[in-house]
Amino acid sequence: MKASIVLYTSDLRLHDHPPLRAATREAEEVVPLFVRDPGIEKAGFTAPNRAAFLADCLAGLDAGLRERGGRLVVRAGDPVRIVRELVGSTGAERVHVAAGLSAYARGRADRLRTALEGTGAELVEHEAVVTALQPGELVPGGKDHFAVFTPYHRQWSAQPLREPLAAPRALTVPSGVRSDAVPRRADVEGVSPGLAEGGEAAGRALLAAWRRDGVSRYEEMHDDLAGDGTSRLSPYLHFGALSAAECVHRVRAAGGAGADAFVRQLCWRDFHHQVLAARPAAAHKDYRPRGDHWRTGRSAEREAAAWREGRTGYPVVDAAMRQLAHEGWMHNRGRLLAASFLTKTLYLDWRLGAAHFLDLLADGDLANNQMNWQWVAGTGTDTRPGRVLNPLTQARKYDPEGDYVRRWVPELRGIEGRAVHEPWKRPAGEREGYPRPLVDLAEGRDRFRRAREKG
Ligand SMILES: Cc1cc2nc3c(=O)[nH]c(=O)nc-3n(C[C@H](O)[C@H](O)[C@H](O)COP(=O)(O)OP(=O)(O)OC[C@H]3O[C@@H](n4cnc5c(N)ncnc54)[C@H](O)[C@@H]3O)c2cc1C
Repeated sequence: MKASIVLYTSDLRLHDHPPLRAATREAEEVVPLFVRDPGIEKAGFTAPNRAAFLADCLAGLDAGLRERGGRLVVRAGDPVRIVRELVGSTGAERVHVAAGLSAYARGRADRLRTALEGTGAELVEHEAVVTALQPGELVPGGKDHFAVFTPYHRQWSAQPLREPLAAPRALTVPSGVRSDAVPRRADVEGVSPGLAEGGEAAGRALLAAWRRDGVSRYEEMHDDLAGDGTSRLSPYLHFGALSAAECVHRVRAAGGAGADAFVRQLCWRDFHHQVLAARPAAAHKDYRPRGDHWRTGRSAEREAAAWREGRTGYPVVDAAMRQLAHEGWMHNRGRLLAASFLTKTLYLDWRLGAAHFLDLLADGDLANNQMNWQWVAGTGTDTRPGRVLNPLTQARKYDPEGDYVRRWVPELRGIEGRAVHEPWKRPAGEREGYPRPLVDLAEGRDRFRRAREKG
């Protein structure tokens, strides 16, 4: 076959990439294509941190392809029109794409299939590569998805995974195919100063280091806020710079309790994807409505603003929110605490919090963000929807020396040890400029419980 096109979407890598593998095997020339789609950009998915991370991923993909004799072709516009045009100019007979999980991606594939009719080229839609297992691959009897994690995890763990594919050694891009400049991180404004470097090479290096030095301690370290003992692989997985299936394979091969605990988290990722794929409305609507009447009005808005700024007066919540602003990433325990505080202590709508997270998270995606928010708010798949995380008890447990708080809340650096979690008990001089608590924890908790009883 003379030429094939590979349409990249959220799978920005060379390794373990079934569409690229198929194209390089069958065709003499391959067009690796990424289209900057205004449809996606308009929907708000290109917040600055993700736009910057995406730019790194595209630059990395281009560099990796160049090492192999090729290059990345970047265009802006409607992907269907651009693919059709490239089929015409290159004589490509096949267009390879990995199945997407969203309604938008499914619609794009349908439009592509129709647009290619009569051109002599066909669309080859490969299995989805965002998750380790496909959403819908495992279903409980008579249902379209798993609503509870534990039985899903049991089946998921017993299911064989496909073997990861190697990256192609070489490829040739047809001459004369025009490309826009590959976007650069430096051109994106409003990026968090501590945002990690994106791209497949950075992701693979992180995974290798994680297997070598991190994963064996994951079980005891994963909740230690100051210890920062999680993998930080989430944004690479989000952009597909790393394959979830390959991560599972490689980490399972390392073996041990840490590996099991880590792989279980990757299963959570698949779990949320299969929930959202079956119930797309859960991105915005309660998965399990609890009759909530979330607080609104002036004081609610003021409290939401304080939460966003990391000025709630609860140091561990504020530290987490400031980490998010600085790094475009937040520790999972921080996410749990910040989300519980907003929804259950302040009794504010989870959608407010989810939107703020999506504005900043480099790994922000609808399935994991919205379904985790719903889990914490008790409107999702948590089997204990009424649980309220007490930020003080949690801080003493997961930041026992107070180091995480002092790292992110400079106003409190003068307070030693765990006393930093209760700055209101200290003289004003030791907490200069740091606010008093927005709300009394017991009052907040009781307000939430009363509201849920009424609902
Ligand atoms: C309110 C809230 C919002 C969240 N929003 C997102 C989001 O937008 N995108 C996102 O990828 N994760 C989200 N998470 C899940 C989790 O916090 C992050 O995946 C994790 O903190 C990323 O850090 P890590 O890569 O070091 O994780 P590790 O602890 O090293 O875990 C390994 C991988 O497992 C996956 N994972 C871990 N925990 C979860 C989980 N609870 N749900 C789904 N996948 C998980 C991630 O892909 C992660 O990279 C959210 C959690 C909460 C409570």
